[in-house]
Parts: sequence; C-alpha cells; structure tokens
Amino acid sequence: MASIFTFTCATCDESFNVYSNNLVKKDCLICPNCSNRLPDEVFHKLKTATELLIEVDKNSEQTDGSHLSGDNLNHFYYKIQ
Ligand SMILES: [Zn+2]
Repeated sequence: MASIFTFTCATCDESFNVYSNNLVKKDCLICPNCSNRLPDEVFHKLKTATELLIEVDKNSEQTDGSHLSGDNLNHFYYKIQ
C-alpha cells in the first residue's frame, strides 16, 4: 500500500505523481518536463518523513480480516491516502 504525492513544478506548471515507495528509492526529485530540481534539503526531509510514513503504514494492513489480530496490540487499523 503506497501513498501518492502530487507535485506541481513551479517553473513549468507540470503536475506529476510519485508513489511513496518510489520516492524513498530516489536521491533527488526532478520535474519530468523541465528538469527543475527540488532543493536537496527539502527532498531529504520529505524522504525521511515518507520512510516513517511507510513504517507506520505497515500497521494499516489487515491480513486476515480479524480486528483482534495478535500482531496489532492496539487494535487500530487506519488508512493513509
Ligand atoms: Zn517543470
């Protein structure tokens, strides 16, 4: 399960989507239309936040449909979109 980030390039107005599981594999973020590059500092913060998001997102998966699964002691399921 992946979250989708939608970026809009300030230089050329191009909008593009990046899945969270792809974002964490990247070293930088570049506009596919004009090669405008997101500042490294901003990208690293976003990547760190996304890695944490993916970590907690694992908790959102219901494996057997039971709300009393022993793996999820807090008995909460949630969905990040
Ligand atoms: Zn652009």
